[in-house]
Amino acid sequence: MTEIIGELIEIAVDVDDEAAEAVSELFNRYNGGSYEAENEAGEAGGGGAVIEVTGIDDFGNPIPDKYRVVVKTYVKPGKRGEHTKRQLEEGLWRLSLLYPIPEPQVRVVQEEDWATAWKKFYKPLRIGQRVVLKPTWEEFTPNAADIVIHLDPGMAFGTGMHPTTRLCIVALEEVVHPGDTVLDLGTGSGVLAFVAAHLGATEVLATDIDPLAVRVARENALLNHIDAKTLTIDLSSVPAQMPGRFQVIVANILAEVLVGLFDGKYENTPLAEPLAARGTFILSGILAEKAEMVLQAAARYGLHLVDTKQEGDWVALVVRATA
Ligand code: SAH
Repeated sequence: MTEIIGELIEIAVDVDDEAAEAVSELFNRYNGGSYEAENEAGEAGGGGAVIEVTGIDDFGNPIPDKYRVVVKTYVKPGKRGEHTKRQLEEGLWRLSLLYPIPEPQVRVVQEEDWATAWKKFYKPLRIGQRVVLKPTWEEFTPNAADIVIHLDPGMAFGTGMHPTTRLCIVALEEVVHPGDTVLDLGTGSGVLAFVAAHLGATEVLATDIDPLAVRVARENALLNHIDAKTLTIDLSSVPAQMPGRFQVIVANILAEVLVGLFDGKYENTPLAEPLAARGTFILSGILAEKAEMVLQAAARYGLHLVDTKQEGDWVALVVRATA
């Protein structure tokens, strides 16, 4: 390997889980691409977001008062780096209007520190009964029943850092049965689609309107050896001409978007259409105070609450058509 010398500018933000996803997405967008120390600034990507989690126990559970998430990214000194840095700072400022995030910490570090140090912070994360989200390079010895999902950090939404993703995984474990058909609407990194496939779904459709998400989900599908016969990943929203096709639909999008999708406000196929008559719908990405609004929209299409999962301010609503 070429000797790495030189300096990098580190931009670090101390965040909670929610903001971690948003900040990572920002860093990936403006400073993504694989990091290559040898390349001139401007040609190489910045490696995207690096997520450092400290203060978790061996099972991936946060230790009270010790749990900390820091999202970092690195730019090279110079004109191009300065430009990227400004974009990142502007983006952070915009996010700070939505999330309580502190000022970014900026400091100069040696490249070699970066190259070796960061991976040790991203650890396997256990969610629900059987699912473990595992960074690609980490050693992990699963139990026989474990479902291990391999993910790289610094990718599209869906690293498991966000409570809304975890709520969906917990609900999927309960509702997906072998042989089911599953739709993952707004798949992001693909994480929920992979979980569904591992739970025995034989036909999984994952859609997203963001081309970056579709690309990342496809890469992750290969990484996870998900059979292409089982999983289709599409650049789209609610699938048309598939009425009643899916026994389970999971959509981890925001409350307002879900309501709009139910009512076909985006010139989309109405959200409830692809759900099978006895199917189960997992609606997530919903702040508790907005649950009622989403439930009312679901009720307009004959779907009623059967279960609620909650973590902090977030809820996932499990709804079904009442017979
Ligand atoms: N399913 C992943 C990612 C959730 S983030 C997880 O649970 O972690 C929400 C995703 O929905 C984003 O990738 C976004 O691009 C996508 N999205 C937003 N609006 C959408 C729409 N109308 N149709 C399909 N996907 C949408």
